[in-house]
Amino acid sequence: MTQKATLKQTSGQHARTVRGGSARPEDACPACGTLMKEAKGSLKLPVNGEQITVPSASHLMCPKCGEVVLRFQEAKRLHEDAIALYRRKHGLSSAGTQSAWRHAPRRPSRPTD
Ligand SMILES: [Zn+2]
Repeated sequence: MTQKATLKQTSGQHARTVRGGSARPEDACPACGTLMKEAKGSLKLPVNGEQITVPSASHLMCPKCGEVVLRFQEAKRLHEDAIALYRRKHGLSSAGTQSAWRHAPRRPSRPTD
């Protein structure tokens, strides 16, 4: 376990995850019911207590009130991107430790069957 996959909802954050079981149509704004539009832009997500800005994050935005909604895949992607950016920012490799990767022999791994 290297990270907790929790998406914290803070009062200062506008992004919201839609949960299943809602009577509303998927693309309707939870705040005003207006049909939301596909959008791409910078969204912030806290990683280890640090606000990470993810550029070009896919989401739904209400053209009327500006409410932002992330669908499951988008929230998942945003979270993954935020962690990747956080690691890059702090010089951490996203594929484990860099030294281990460097010294690993470039040999195709075979199934041990
Ligand atoms: Zn709205």
